[in-house]
Amino acid sequence: MPLRDVLGQPHAVETVRRGLSRGKLHHALLFAGPDGVGKELTAFGLACAIGCTVAPGEGCGTCPTCHRMTTFSREGARVPIHPDVVLVARGLYPKEVLGRSTDEKTDISVDQVRRVVLDRVNLSPHEAPQRVVIVRAADELSTGAANALLKTLEEPPAHTRFVLLTSKPGELLPTIRSRTQLIRFAALSDATVEHVLLARGVDLEIARRVAPLAAGSVATAMALADPSSAEERTVAVEALRAAASGPLAKALEVTSSYANTGEARATLGAQLVALAGEEAGEVRRLVLSGGDDRAITRALARREAAVALAESLERNPNVPLALEAAWLHLRRR
Ligand SMILES: [Zn+2]
Repeated sequence: MPLRDVLGQPHAVETVRRGLSRGKLHHALLFAGPDGVGKELTAFGLACAIGCTVAPGEGCGTCPTCHRMTTFSREGARVPIHPDVVLVARGLYPKEVLGRSTDEKTDISVDQVRRVVLDRVNLSPHEAPQRVVIVRAADELSTGAANALLKTLEEPPAHTRFVLLTSKPGELLPTIRSRTQLIRFAALSDATVEHVLLARGVDLEIARRVAPLAAGSVATAMALADPSSAEERTVAVEALRAAASGPLAKALEVTSSYANTGEARATLGAQLVALAGEEAGEVRRLVLSGGDDRAITRALARREAAVALAESLERNPNVPLALEAAWLHLRRR
C-alpha cells in the first residue's frame, strides 16, 4: 500500500510524507481518528515508504518488500511476513509466544510489549533501514504495558519507529501522548467511503445505500454491507424496538439469546450507529413533511435508544450486560 493509495486523508498523509522526505518525522507517531478511516493503511504505507527501494519515501506497492510488508502470515499470529514490520494488538499472539498462562482478553499485556517489542528493538532491522512497530488500538495498552513502552518512546533506538493507532486518544496515558507526535485522521466523506466499498467489490447499489450511514468509517460501512451481519441487524432492530417501547422482559429476552463475542459486539455497534443515522434521517423527513408529533417522538426515541446502546457497548465489553444497562437507562427516564 503506497502512501498515495490512502484515500481521503490528504493532511495526515502529507504530514508523514513531508516529514519523511525532510528527515524530520518524529520517531513515535500517534495516529488518532475514528476506526476505519485509513490510520492503519497509512502506518503500513509509512513502513513501505521506508523499506521500498523502487520508490523510496513513497512505496511502490508491488516490489517484494512492499508485498511482504503488507501480506499477513496465514499460520500462527496474523502478522506481516516482513520481519521489520512489527504488529502489536490485543489477543494477536498465542499465549505461549507471550509466555503467559492465559490469552489476552481485555488489554495489550506488558508481556506482549516485552516479548514482541522490547526484546527486539535493540537489534538491527533485518532488511529495511528501519523497523516500524505498529500498535493497533493503543488505548488498549495496559498501564504496565504503556509504562514498559515509555522509556523506549523517550529514548528511541536508532533503527525503530513507532506508530500508535487509536480512536480514543483521551484514554492513553498523558505520558504516552506527550512522547508522540499527534497526527489526526478525519472521518471520510460519504463519496470516499462509497469509492472504497466499490474498490473492495461491494455492489454499487449496496455501497450507495450504506455509505451515508457509516459515519465516515469504511469499517462500519463494510460491516453494514456484509450479508452475514444480517443477524446482528435483526438483533439491533429488535433491541431498538424493545428499548424504545417494549417491556423490559422482552429486552432481556433479546439479549440473552445474543452471542457474546468481540466480533459480534463490533458488528452490533456498527449496526446501531447506522440505525441511529437512519432514525435521524426519518426524524428529518417527518419534520419536513409535517408528520405527526407521535411519529416524530417515536423516531427520536428509537434514535436515542440506538445511541444509548452503542455507547453502552463501548463501555461494557459484555454484550448482554451492555444492552441491559442501556435499557435500564432508557426505562428510568
Ligand atoms: Zn516497493
